[in-house]
Amino acid sequence: RKGNVIITGASSGLGLATAKAIADTGKWHVIMACRNFLKAEKAAKSFGIDKENYTVMHLDLASLDSVRQFADNFRRSGRPLDVLVCNAAVYLPTAKEPSFTAEGFELSVGTNHLGHFLLARLLLDDLKQSDYPSKRLIIVGSITGNTNTLAGNVPPKANLGDLRGLAGGLNGLNTSVMIDGGEFDGAKAYKDSKVCNMLTMQEFHRRYHEETGISFTSLYPGCIATTGLFREHIPLFRLLFPPFQKYITKGYVSEEEAGKRLAQVVSDPSLEKSGVYWSWNKNSSSFENQLSKEASDAEKAQRLWEISEKLVGLA
Ligand code: NDP
Repeated sequence: RKGNVIITGASSGLGLATAKAIADTGKWHVIMACRNFLKAEKAAKSFGIDKENYTVMHLDLASLDSVRQFADNFRRSGRPLDVLVCNAAVYLPTAKEPSFTAEGFELSVGTNHLGHFLLARLLLDDLKQSDYPSKRLIIVGSITGNTNTLAGNVPPKANLGDLRGLAGGLNGLNTSVMIDGGEFDGAKAYKDSKVCNMLTMQEFHRRYHEETGISFTSLYPGCIATTGLFREHIPLFRLLFPPFQKYITKGYVSEEEAGKRLAQVVSDPSLEKSGVYWSWNKNSSSFENQLSKEASDAEKAQRLWEISEKLVGLA
C-alpha cells in the first residue's frame, strides 16, 4: 500500500514543496493539514500535485480544540498514519505587541510548539498502530535555535531560561508572554519555539523510540529565504535577505531543494535513525548535526514536556 504522511502547514513554503516532492513519487498519500482550506487546494493545484495523491484537512494549530478535532477527523478517515511532519510555523519579528492563540498562549510558541506538541501526542498511538516498515515523527527545527552556530548567534538569541513564563501560562496575565519570563520580543519568541521543537523531538526519542520503533527526528533544511515565513518582516529586509543568503552567507536554499531534503527525512532509508537533527552541507549531502547546549539539555527537555502537558490539558 501507499504510505500516508500528514504535513502541517503544507499550503506554502517548505511544507508545500515537501508535499509536492513526496506526492510525485506516487508512493505516498499526503494529508495537507492546513488552516486555510482554499489556499491549500489552490496551492496543490498550481503545483500540479495529482488529486489521487493528496487530501486537504483543516487544522488550526493556534486552537487546541482544532488540533483535537483534526486528530478525530483523521481517525475517521480510516487511513493508517505512517509519518507525521510538524512543519507549520509563524514568525512575527516586527510585532510590537504579542498576539495570542485561542487558549491565550503567546502566538509563536502557542502555534509552533504547543499546537504541535498536542498534535504529536494525540497521533502517537496512530503511528504506533501503523504496520508501515518505517514510521517517523519529524519536527522541523531551525539553525536560529542553535547558539553554537554563527546564524544562531544573531541577537536576540533563543533562551528558555528556567521556563518560568511558560509554567505561568505564557498569557501575559499573571506572567510574562515569553518562556524565560522576559519582555515580549517576536523574533526571540520564534527562536525559543524552535528550541522547544528540537527539545521535544529528543524527549519523544528518549520516551518512545525503543518501545515503539518510531523514528523521531528534526532538521534544518537550509535558509529558504523566499518563503512566506518572512511575510511580516519589513519590506527592505524581504528585498535584501534572499540575495544576502545567496551570495554572502551562501546558506540559501530554494524551496524546491528544501522540500527534497525534508522528503528524504520522510522516506529515505538512510535517514531513518532516531534522535537525530539532520542538516545538509553545500553539496547537498545530509549529515547528523550537533545541537546547541540548550537545545540538547535533557533536563530542560523533560521539564518542557511536563509543563507543556499541563498547558495543553494532557496532565
Ligand atoms: P511559510 O510561512 O511559507 O509556511 C508556514 C506554514 O505554516 C504555512 O502553510 C502557514 O499557513 C502555516 N501555519 C501558520 N500558522 C498556522 C496555524 N495556526 N495552523 C496551521 N498552519 C499554520 O514558512 P516556511 O515554509 O519557511 O516554514 C516552514 C517551516 O520551516 C517552519 O517550521 C520554519 O520554522 C522552518 N524553517 C524555515 C526556514 C526558512 O528559511 N524559511 C529555515 C529553517 C526552518 P498559511 O499558508 O495559511 O499562512
